Amino acid sequence: MIKTLAVMTSGGDSSGMNAAVRAVVRRALDRGLRVYGIYSGYDGLLRGGDLIKPLNWQDVGNVLQRGGTFLGTARSEQFKTVEGRRRAVENLLDRGIEALVVIGGDGSLTGALLLSNEWHEHVEKIATVRPELRPMVEQTPKLQVMGLPGSIDNDLSGTDMAIGVDTALNHIVRAIDHLSSTAASHQRTFVLETMGRNCGYLALAGTLATGASWMLIPECSLELHWHQRMVECLDKARKTGRRHQMVVIAEGARHPDGLRMEAGEVRKILTEKLGIEVRLTVLGHVQRGGPPSAFDRVLSARLGVAAVDRLVDEPDVVHCHMVGVKKNRVVSTPLTEVIEKSREIQRLIESGDFSKARELRGEAFGTMLELVEALTAPCPSQESAGRGSVVIMTGGADSPGMNAALSIAARRLLDCGVSVLGSKDEFYGLTHGDFVNLEWNDLAGWMGRPSSDIGTARSSQVLEDFGKIAENIAKFDIKGIIAIGGLDTYRHVQRFAQMRADFPEFNIPMVLVPACIDNNLPGSDLCIGSDTALNNIVEAVDKIRDTAGATRRAFIVETMGKECGFLAAMAALAAGADKAYLPETGISLAELNKDVSELKKSFESGNRMVIYMRNEDASRHYTTDFLRRLLEEESKDEFEVRSVVLGHVQRGGSPTAFDRILAGRISAGAAGALLELMKNGSSEVLAFGLKDGAVASSPLSEALDQIDALHGRPKVQWFMDLIPFIHSLAKSRPCCREMPGVEEPRPIAR
Ligand code: ADP
Repeated sequence: MIKTLAVMTSGGDSSGMNAAVRAVVRRALDRGLRVYGIYSGYDGLLRGGDLIKPLNWQDVGNVLQRGGTFLGTARSEQFKTVEGRRRAVENLLDRGIEALVVIGGDGSLTGALLLSNEWHEHVEKIATVRPELRPMVEQTPKLQVMGLPGSIDNDLSGTDMAIGVDTALNHIVRAIDHLSSTAASHQRTFVLETMGRNCGYLALAGTLATGASWMLIPECSLELHWHQRMVECLDKARKTGRRHQMVVIAEGARHPDGLRMEAGEVRKILTEKLGIEVRLTVLGHVQRGGPPSAFDRVLSARLGVAAVDRLVDEPDVVHCHMVGVKKNRVVSTPLTEVIEKSREIQRLIESGDFSKARELRGEAFGTMLELVEALTAPCPSQESAGRGSVVIMTGGADSPGMNAALSIAARRLLDCGVSVLGSKDEFYGLTHGDFVNLEWNDLAGWMGRPSSDIGTARSSQVLEDFGKIAENIAKFDIKGIIAIGGLDTYRHVQRFAQMRADFPEFNIPMVLVPACIDNNLPGSDLCIGSDTALNNIVEAVDKIRDTAGATRRAFIVETMGKECGFLAAMAALAAGADKAYLPETGISLAELNKDVSELKKSFESGNRMVIYMRNEDASRHYTTDFLRRLLEEESKDEFEVRSVVLGHVQRGGSPTAFDRILAGRISAGAAGALLELMKNGSSEVLAFGLKDGAVASSPLSEALDQIDALHGRPKVQWFMDLIPFIHSLAKSRPCCREMPGVEEPRPIAR
């Protein structure tokens, strides 16, 4: 079994690298390993000395919320030579390092693969010159290598998302939102360039998430007169009432002849052909920086822990792999395969085989591309042809991303010639014939709006008026219903469908889209709004952490979630809290006793702040206030105790990029399925969601069977597997003082 591991970050930095280093270091210490940090990437590895230092528990404290990488990163030409890599191997041998975790992109992982492949040759040569290293060479016949994908471009095969992508996408989405508001005021057109030399993921997802008007990415072939199409589209949209236009271009976009396209050229074309003022914004390095999003922190924790666990638990395997996340599961892929497949896509793009390149990018990429191609059109591709209407409603407590789900579902239907009515306040509109007409051009601007513009309601009372609803279904020629909402909405729709024997008008198809910050709905690993709420919580906890000063403080932060612990658990993991009190596990007196004693020890051992997350329904009697008073009593004035109830702050704000994309994928799938059901004369009722990384559906009754009705949450919850990581990585663990740590390295004899 390995005893010593080193971790490094390399290549372009990305937000979340610190979180990944923290996870690797703490998990490795927790599993009894000695840990080194390599500073300045491969440059540090081959220079050695002070650039390879032991890391202990506290060395990775307070880095989780910081962008960039505290280990530093550098590009090293010397490492690309055999001599350079030999020096790197010698430095590893000198310190007895048997396993290396590299966090970086395609180039960095190529370097790691070479180190692994050449290990035997290098160590043999080194041992002939330095015989004292022979025992170490015998002990380490192979270097164990684990890669973690760290690249904002999302161009690595073997993972659906790389560390830093989600944060970068949020920067892009926020920038487009901000530019759109100024563009709308002045009726201006903007060209915005995103990063992505070889991959258009950021530009594509940014376009979909914001309803931008046009997109240029490396994965799309351009016909010779591509600019004519772009100009015509923008001109038509402006003439039909769009007040602002946004063209998003990935830095790797190319002309039909393969030459790189400059964002300035696009601006020039638009200025000349449209005769209007066009502004250019190149986002540049803003995309790399800033605190990592909640998603990136959780991803980093999952991958960091998995990398160490695989190295420790599979001692007989020669590891030369990258751990990534596919279909919401951690997987490991041989580095050779990761590198070959990532380069294959690049080659396909260069040779003009775009369809194969897009196929290799995966299902989500393809779905987003299809959606963007349909939704950036200046008008629906089919006229409304008297095919009746579909009603869309949003129900239950409002959640960020409802407008995005509504916008995409409605446009998908309008594009197929179906008119769409928004039912005001869930079933109220349907009962009273009070609808909002949803129009193509307006809807593009709804992607970033908080909450729901057509209103939500807890409409169990209104639902008693089945007769009026039936009348209106006939009167407005309603052929189908899309309901976006939470568990109550699911149950209302079920009741509605159950009344079909009395009201034959209800024999129309209905589809459900999961939108609820609690993430407690069946048939979907994630619900629309939960990522935004999670980020709201994590930002708040970061601010609380910033108040760490002269006083020792314990905080109890209460989150929403009803009887589902998703928000409290994920926030604890993402914000580095010490513990999460969850409704799934409850709170016992014995546990509180243990927590009080650990808390005291933690402060005694020098910690200045401890943060506990508590879900609002974790226990009926051990409330947040009770916990505060209990800890205060036990503190004996050695530390202060504060409680923070975050409340509705968690629901607010513009949806994150992740929630908008999730909303887009699920609601487009639901709208597409509804059209099919309508065509086939079916009256099925289906619940949609994202399951194992793909949009999936099941009959509503089956979906509701997956719910633990007493507690209002799914019977099986994937995130429960991550709960042990919270404690394993927590900052204030008193035992961390007793961790083995590393002796100072032996001097390098050279
Ligand atoms: P990224 O990892 O973000 O793709 P780079 O391509 O700049 O970033 O690679 C980072 C570092 O990885 C390089 O500076 C170099 O030291 C090492 N590296 C990149 N490509 C190779 C290669 N083909 N052989 C050996 N080392 C490489």
